[in-house]
Parts: sequence; C-alpha cells; structure tokens
Amino acid sequence: MRLYEYEAKQLFADHGIPIPKGFLARSVEEVMSCAERIGDRVVLKAQILSGGRGKAGGILVAASPQEAAEKAGSLLAATIKGYPVKSVYVEQALDIAKELYIGVTIDRVNYKVVLIGCEEGGVEIEEIARRSPEQIVKFSRNIDEQFFSYDGIAFAQQIGFSGKALQTVAKIAKAVVDIFYRYDAKLVEVNPLAQLQDGSLVAADARISIDEDALFRQGQLQKLGVEDRHEEGEMTDRENQARQARIPYLDLDGDIGMFPGGAGFGIAGNDLIIDLGGRPANFMDSGGGPSPERIAKMLMLLEENPRVKAIFGARFGGVSRCDDFAKGVILFLKTGKLTKPIAMRMTGNMWEEGLRIFEEERKQNPHLFDKVEIYGIETPIEYVAKRAVELARGEERKTG
Ligand code: GDP
Ligand code: MN
Repeated sequence: MRLYEYEAKQLFADHGIPIPKGFLARSVEEVMSCAERIGDRVVLKAQILSGGRGKAGGILVAASPQEAAEKAGSLLAATIKGYPVKSVYVEQALDIAKELYIGVTIDRVNYKVVLIGCEEGGVEIEEIARRSPEQIVKFSRNIDEQFFSYDGIAFAQQIGFSGKALQTVAKIAKAVVDIFYRYDAKLVEVNPLAQLQDGSLVAADARISIDEDALFRQGQLQKLGVEDRHEEGEMTDRENQARQARIPYLDLDGDIGMFPGGAGFGIAGNDLIIDLGGRPANFMDSGGGPSPERIAKMLMLLEENPRVKAIFGARFGGVSRCDDFAKGVILFLKTGKLTKPIAMRMTGNMWEEGLRIFEEERKQNPHLFDKVEIYGIETPIEYVAKRAVELARGEERKTG
C-alpha cells in the first residue's frame, strides 16, 4: 500500500530528512492561501497514488499565488495517469542543481534488504539500471543485520560525495533505512534527492509503500486509511465491497468475470482466458471455505460490474465442497438478478451431490438456468474457458 507524497514527506520530516516547506490543499482557494503562506515561487504537485507525475503534467510551477490559483483550477479538474486529482501539495519551489536517487527495498532474488543510491536521479531507477548500471551503488544486508551510521558514510562516499554534503547524505540514507524498518515498508524512495544551488540537500519527492501484512501493528499508518489503497491508486467501490465480504478481489480491465474456486485457479484461470484471446475483468479468490452466501456475493459482484459481458466459473471442490458451491450459485440465481451468460465447471469433492442439487433445482425452476452452462469432470477446463470467451463476444449460447 502506497502513501501519498505529502504523507511520506511527513514521515521523512519526523525522521530528520529535510523536506521543502509545503502544505496540502483540496481546493483552488486553499492552494492560493498555501501559496501566500509560502510567499515564494511554488510547485503544485498532484497527489495521486502513482509516480511519473512530472512527465504526465502533474507537477506545475507557479510564480505567484494568482498563478498558483489559475494552475490549481486545471490540476484539480484533471485526471492524471488515470487517477482524478483530489488534492494538491503546494511546496516552495527549489533551485535544483543536481538530482540524486536514494531508495531502500527488498532484493527478492537474494532475500536481502538493499540500500540503493545513484548520483543521477529524477528519472526512474529502473531506467538508470538499464542504461548505466555501473552508476548504481548497492548495499545489501540480511534482514536480521543492521545498517550502521558508518554504512551511510561509505554509501555516500561511493555515490561520490565528500565534505559536508557527505555527512548529510549519510544521515539521510540512514534515516531512509530506519523508516523502512520502522514502518514495515516494501519500498522507501527519495527520487529525486535534490541538491540545491547552495549545496544543501532536500527530499524533493517521497515514496513509501508498506507491506499490508504488517498493517496490524502499524497504528499510525492505519489512521491514514492506507488499507483502502493499492501500490498504485485507491481501491474501487467494488473492491471495497468485496473486502467487506472477505472476498479477495481485484478489478482488471477486461470483460470476462472470473469466478474461480481458489486463488491458485484464480491466477491460472486468468492466464487461460488470456491465452484464449479473452480479457479477465477481475481477479478473485473465494477466501477459504466460502459459505453459500459468500458464493452468491461473488457472483453478484460480477453481475453488477458493467464491464463484465460473460462469467467464467471454475470450482475444484477441495476443503470447500461442490454441494455448498451449488447452493451458493442457486442462492444467487434465485435473486433473479442475473443478466449475463455463465459458463462454469465443477469437479472435485462432492461434485455428484453438487450436480444433483443443480438438476433438482433445474426441474423445479428451469428458467433460472436460461443463461447458465454447467459442465463437469467430462469437459476439459479449456473448453469451458473457451465458451466464456465466446459468450463475452456475444456468440450463441448452448444448453449445458
Ligand atoms: P514524479 O514525477 O511523480 O516522480 O514527481 P517528482 O516530485 O519527482 O517531480 C518530477 C520532477 O519535477 C523532479 O525530478 C524535478 O525535476 C521536478 N521537480 C519536483 N519538485 C520540484 C521543485 O520543487 N522545484 C523544481 N524546480 N523542480 C521540481
Ligand atoms: Mn519522483
């Protein structure tokens, strides 16, 4: 989960990392009064949960409070990188002489915490790594080892600092590492760390992403409401609804509603649909031993998603049994809300009983199954996935 720049900068300031003077504003009037308080040239920075704002027009400079107000009007009305701008961080503009990079993250290949620095910053570190990997300085430690102050000094030296700036860069590097541990972060990044014309150093940008599995012990971050966020962007209404029902769910940009049994097939099923030329509208997991009510809710989420043109269901009954699955599907069908075609397959634990429940219901209320194709063990999953792709394209329905 990602913090907004202004939140991350507050944590930076708490840990002694110099930041420019700045205030958060949510309206044109607030931007103007913030600019007046700063009383200098300002930068207006769109607060969205995404990087690359500079290139996308999300960072604007204003020479006066009037100009700030004018530019804020368009910024607050804009959608940048797909995210509506709801607030603007108004900051004293900097006379940047040089932009550097400092970041800490987890090296997933070596299972280490890695402090990364580069005398070239401002652009994405991945880009520098591709273009001139020799410029990048890395210090790795096991998770149970410490970074010491002298590591910060060696690090700053290797980036190419000396004298007073070396001491400052060393302290900032140490503080970035401390923040990483203190808040259970996955990534803490200062990009750019700006060296100003007078030689001083300030964090011009701040990025912190925290590990959601550690949120339970991060009271201060819970208060920021970070649980509603992704790495990029905030959760959609549907994702929030799913979370309340304890259904792991992510919106994607396709048109096939994915209704799998578990997370494993949730992922494999998305690959399968893509291989067959379709596009999943979501990722979903049933969240472990789902009740019929939760199964019904899963289908309702897909029915209510306007992107979804067809639903692909795959239940391999294990701990969660096919009879419960069938009951949940019927519970949903009985709401009478289904407008979209479903192709689904059911095998595994209690599948005969699941099929019997379906057949019984079909005898009594055949119309409930008008849009539903149900397949069993005799039909390969690829066939059912292909049916879902066809149904999403509006091709003829078969009776299942
Ligand atoms: P990002 O594009 O989302 O990473 O946002 P940044 O805050 O890193 O801004 C992008 C670029 O805008 C920086 O690399 C700087 O070159 C420039 N920039 C950011 N803040 C300032 C500032 O206060 N003054 C000036 N002159 N440039 C800034
Ligand atoms: Mn940046």
